[in-house]
Amino acid sequence: MYDVVIVGAGITGSFITRELSKYNLKIAMIDKSNDVANGTTKANSAIVHAGYDAEEGSLKAKFNVRGNKLYEAICKELHVPFKRIGSLVLAFDDQDIVTIRELYDRGLKNGVEEMMLLEKDEVLRLEENINNDVVGALHAKSAGIVGPWELAIALTENALENGAELHLNCHVKGISKNAKGFELDTTKGLMETKMVVNCAGVHSDDINNMVNENKIEIIPNSGEYNLFDKSMGSFVNSVIFRCPTQAGKGVLVTPTVHGNLLVGPTALNVEDKDGVATTYEGLTFINNLSKETMKEMKFQNVITSFTGIRAKVAGGDFIVGESEESPGFFNVAGIDSPGLTAAPAIAEYVVGQIISTRDRTEIKKDFIHNRRPSIHFMDLSSHEKDALISKDPAFGKIICRCENITEGEIIDIIRREAGATTLDGVKRRARPGSGRCQGGFCASRVIEIFAREQNILITEVVKDNLQSVILTGKTNEAGR
Ligand SMILES: Cc1cc2nc3c(=O)[nH]c(=O)nc-3n(C[C@H](O)[C@H](O)[C@H](O)COP(=O)(O)OP(=O)(O)OC[C@H]3O[C@@H](n4cnc5c(N)ncnc54)[C@H](O)[C@@H]3O)c2cc1C
Repeated sequence: MYDVVIVGAGITGSFITRELSKYNLKIAMIDKSNDVANGTTKANSAIVHAGYDAEEGSLKAKFNVRGNKLYEAICKELHVPFKRIGSLVLAFDDQDIVTIRELYDRGLKNGVEEMMLLEKDEVLRLEENINNDVVGALHAKSAGIVGPWELAIALTENALENGAELHLNCHVKGISKNAKGFELDTTKGLMETKMVVNCAGVHSDDINNMVNENKIEIIPNSGEYNLFDKSMGSFVNSVIFRCPTQAGKGVLVTPTVHGNLLVGPTALNVEDKDGVATTYEGLTFINNLSKETMKEMKFQNVITSFTGIRAKVAGGDFIVGESEESPGFFNVAGIDSPGLTAAPAIAEYVVGQIISTRDRTEIKKDFIHNRRPSIHFMDLSSHEKDALISKDPAFGKIICRCENITEGEIIDIIRREAGATTLDGVKRRARPGSGRCQGGFCASRVIEIFAREQNILITEVVKDNLQSVILTGKTNEAGR
């Protein structure tokens, strides 16, 4: 019998699991996917928002502003890339000026610090590549950028080191209440638990509706992006937003923590909660808008495009907390943007609620706060590189030539707690295949390393989900 089962291993589930792992509890995080962070957490803008967007008094506003403040410390503890680069919301006409003043006022009410309204010259001094037609901007210094999936993976790794369990490929098909708590019917068998935390993203309505009469409906809303290579990484210094509209926060142009440039997203209600294909119309829309925002966009430097799905609800606000009709069942539902920013604050709140129901509430004396940093061979000094290679020659072999990733780094991230289980999992953790060639050169070598490390056949290595087989057999046998 578990004390708490967390359904969903995205950013909210992994923050909550890590926070709960500070206490003497038997906990498990489960996910239907074959890796951590395989839902919306792997496909978003990666912005740690300042907090001026959400309505005053909403959960979004409260958790955004608090979450933003928590980011620095947690990313330092877990060695995850986070940069507080600030954001600009640009005004191009009188109506936009009205909008940025409203955002500024709302930000003040929400408790956002270090905001200011800038004149045209000040904007262009900060960002020389912005279109000269700009007339002003809202500058929020506290906004930042983070590696979302790296953070979820790091939180999970740390939680596992502190005794939590992770069950992947574990799809919750039904939940029933009983005298002791809850029984989860999963593809890996029955699980009994005193408490459940529903962090199932776009499927958080399905999980809630298995238990509660008070139903939730998630409205999936897609956002498409183009990612540019590192030649465009210093095109902007901060997160550049257009003014928000009814549809969303507005199309942005931003550097990523790894030095690429990201442009997007669209905001469109869709039927399919898991439909992450990109469209010609969506990508054309964001490209055209970015051309209006910036002086010169070099679209020949786009290396990939992707789609993420927002978990919207009709009420517009997050649904967070213990269910009134099912004590012990906690919803973390309808977590669309700014869910990534809000996640540490949501975890603080939900875990506070869970812990308050227990007698012993002190943090474990042996709780491990830090996670061993990942090795980035190319960031080391020559002396450190030599030392590492003489200890382990695998660090002397470059596998990914675009990102300069060594075999040693790839082996390390496969062998860790919550290590990679797929080719994309290796890419998200150590970045082979994230460069200009998108794995054209290194994928076959990464497959070989992965198969060797996992002691499986190369034909058993999948790209992403269990159906995404890469190799089926030898080429010269295919025609026989
Ligand atoms: C286009 C876009 C841009 C965004 N930009 C930002 C941004 O810049 N800043 C920001 O703060 N936020 C942003 N967000 C929001 C943010 O990405 C999300 O709020 C956040 O990732 C949600 O995390 P989650 O853990 O709740 O859900 P997810 O990451 O989707 O995780 C849910 C998990 O539950 C699992 N699951 C579902 N059903 C079941 C089941 N039945 N059994 C077992 N497991 C199940 C799934 O496999 C999945 O792994 C953006 C979102 C989108 C789509």
